[in-house]
Amino acid sequence: MSGSGFAFVARVRRKELPTRIALAAFIGGTAWAIQQSTWPLWWFGAVILTQTLDWAVFRSLTRGATAEPRGLHKAACLASAALTTTVYSAIAAYLWFQGGTLGQQFAMVQIAGALLHVSLHMHHEKALLMAAVIPHGAYFLGLPVVSAALQGNWHVLLVAIACLLYVAHLVAAVRQTSATTRSLREANAVAQAERGRAQIASAAKSDFLATISHEIRTPMNAVLSAATLLRRTRLDARQREHVDMLADAGDVLMGLLNDVLDFSKIEAGKMEMEDAEMDVRERISAVSRIWSPRARAEGVRLTVAVADDVPECVRTDPLRFQQILFNLLSNAVKFTRDGEIRVRVAWAESASTLSVAVEDTGIGIPKARLAGVFNSFEQVEAGTTRRYGGTGLGLAICRRLAELMGGSLEVDSEEGVGSTFTLILPVAAVGAPARTAAAREDVGPVLSGRVILAADDHEVNRRILALLLEPHGCRLVSVENGAEAVDAAALERFDAILMDMQMPVLDGLQATRAIRAGGANARTPVIALTANALDVHRAAWAEAGVARYLTKPIEPALLIAALAEACQESASARAAA
Ligand code: ADP
Repeated sequence: MSGSGFAFVARVRRKELPTRIALAAFIGGTAWAIQQSTWPLWWFGAVILTQTLDWAVFRSLTRGATAEPRGLHKAACLASAALTTTVYSAIAAYLWFQGGTLGQQFAMVQIAGALLHVSLHMHHEKALLMAAVIPHGAYFLGLPVVSAALQGNWHVLLVAIACLLYVAHLVAAVRQTSATTRSLREANAVAQAERGRAQIASAAKSDFLATISHEIRTPMNAVLSAATLLRRTRLDARQREHVDMLADAGDVLMGLLNDVLDFSKIEAGKMEMEDAEMDVRERISAVSRIWSPRARAEGVRLTVAVADDVPECVRTDPLRFQQILFNLLSNAVKFTRDGEIRVRVAWAESASTLSVAVEDTGIGIPKARLAGVFNSFEQVEAGTTRRYGGTGLGLAICRRLAELMGGSLEVDSEEGVGSTFTLILPVAAVGAPARTAAAREDVGPVLSGRVILAADDHEVNRRILALLLEPHGCRLVSVENGAEAVDAAALERFDAILMDMQMPVLDGLQATRAIRAGGANARTPVIALTANALDVHRAAWAEAGVARYLTKPIEPALLIAALAEACQESASARAAA
């Protein structure tokens, strides 16, 4: 074994020090009882002295300061091991020559025990093992041999032979132990390496899933946007039915994609959380508003009760909070056929935690299946998907998100009575929420007559932008890459610029910097279109003077709101100029 064997042995020696001292006291006392003299006392003093010395020599190894002693330190360690064992077994020589038959028997058993002790503790480091075993062994074999030679009492040599046999057995046992320890350690290393490889493979798979689902979302978004726009045209009843089917199936598919994307992102450790202000009541009632028509249609009442002491505004990840609540309400609506769904929001001042309980009077969950509902792809009944739809991913994602936010998500349920899901989140309470200009005002007229530059290399995205914006009366100038955006910005002054991030020729960041460098659009608000709101590039965008982001797939309402805000900002800047 390498130098780390020294550190290991040093730690064991340190741990066993009190035992060695206690044993020495017992052995010294017994030696004195067998043959009274001051020798056992002197011996015990010598043991204390050498054990202290040994502790000092090995100390730096136990503290991990040096994993492997070198040069003089290594020699000191070996010398100390040899010295302590020489002194420790010296009592056997006293007993052998002074203690009569009883003393001789005691001496032999004591050295046998000491040999066993060092063999078991020190076999991790061969050099140390030898340094400790040799002195014990010398007493063990030497005492009968010397005795036989001095007294001419040759039958004592039989004891030496027995000792030799004992040592041979000990060597075999130590070898076996060393081999077992070594193979265990090797197996452990192999298992660790396999575990690392499996983790990498799993992360790679999750990464792949995240990429694929993300890539599918873009065309899926185009399908959904096209269906939405088609719905607004003149259609006969059959056509409307077909468009509705298209839109509904698209919604389901989009939900599934979002779930897979979120789940794989969490699994790959790539889910980043935001920290922003959130108006608690506004956010909760916005989510409830989405679900109350569905609940009403099922004959279920959806109520929200927010305790008075709940702060108006808190710091958390608003989107993730909304996602969890959305999912809990979606399940409550899905599994409740009559009765009531209640959202109760409470505040614990001492712990600064927000608790949101979603209670329903639905089908409930059997006790045995309660814990399982948070496992991925697990549904209470195999028939659930057929009857209610879903993938069994929703709650798994919600719980992971709650945990990523430092909180928890728990369930309590009774079959046939109902379920309560409780989300507890540690949040910081802040002052009154800052409402955005877009949220306050009607954005319709703001966009009318505005000229907007949109740079995106995907034709589908450009068409979606055109379809979404033209009804608002604005003129859209579409370009395919950053270089074209810079050219267009040099020719005409825009009210706002929509800038995709990844584009050929010149990417969004470079184009923004070039536009910002001077010219008619140096101060025109730019809205970045990113794949992820928490993109690592966010700082780079901020540096280029871009504070607004829209994540793809683009949410029409957010696009209009962001553009309205940007157009208003550029109108005020122009008026001021
Ligand atoms: P799914 O997408 O299938 O709804 P979830 O992870 O959201 O996946 O839920 C997992 C399972 O937990 C559901 O299939 C259902 O069996 C059970 N479940 C979740 N919420 C409720 C609820 N409010 N009432 C009864 N059962 C529920």
